[in-house]
Amino acid sequence: MEKKKGLLFVVSAPSGTGKTTLCRTMARDFPGMHYSISYTTRPPRPGEKKGRDYHFVTAGDFQRMIDAGEFAEWAEIYGYRYGTSKTILEKARDEGRDVIVDIDGQGARQLRDQDPQAIFIFILPPSWEELKRRLSLRKTEGATALGERLKKARLETADGRWYNYIIINNELDKAQKQLKAIIQAQHCRRERVIGVLETMLMVS
Ligand code: ADP
Ligand code: 5GP
Repeated sequence: MEKKKGLLFVVSAPSGTGKTTLCRTMARDFPGMHYSISYTTRPPRPGEKKGRDYHFVTAGDFQRMIDAGEFAEWAEIYGYRYGTSKTILEKARDEGRDVIVDIDGQGARQLRDQDPQAIFIFILPPSWEELKRRLSLRKTEGATALGERLKKARLETADGRWYNYIIINNELDKAQKQLKAIIQAQHCRRERVIGVLETMLMVS
């Protein structure tokens, strides 16, 4: 039977909600799942590794990639650019591997326009207070950047209305189970397995 193209899972949330933490576990729990590493012009934070957290590139290189049409989507966020490689994403999917991307709402909209069959999952923090606590604990932003991210969180949350699924990341373990369940359910959709049913019916 012909190999099915891998599914595309797009995960968005206000910064600090826990989407990176959740997506990393999916890549661990689903062998073969490809967790897309984005390109960014943002400098690395302490502890971040090139090729693991991001592909860190110069503004010039990023612009050349835009001009060459190398991004499936890209956006400018907090003064830096972030983008997903089209080639890597398509190669993994053509090999039958699912791909999970962790991107902002602007990027999610671009992917929705290109591929309405993709599965869009929005992650909500349990409360604004908890979001502030997580962002502060992460210690990756100064006070100004933290305030900026909290302000943007409300706008980003309003955008969550159009996603297929919404997960509240209160207890991490529960949220991980819910995300896993969503991924597993997509593999049982009629259009994914109807071929198996038809093949069985051909056997007398
Ligand atoms: P994002 O990718 O959405 O910006 P991260 O995955 O970096 O968010 O998570 C932000 C911080 O919150 C991290 O320090 C992470 O360990 C923590 N975190 C994630 N999920 C939970 C949770 N359910 N409960 C408590 N802390 C969490
Ligand atoms: P951070 O700087 O905290 O790692 O990420 C800032 C924001 O950029 C987050 O909302 C994150 O989801 C988003 N982001 C990361 N990679 C990409 C990408 O490739 N495309 C888009 N559109 N957003 C991204």
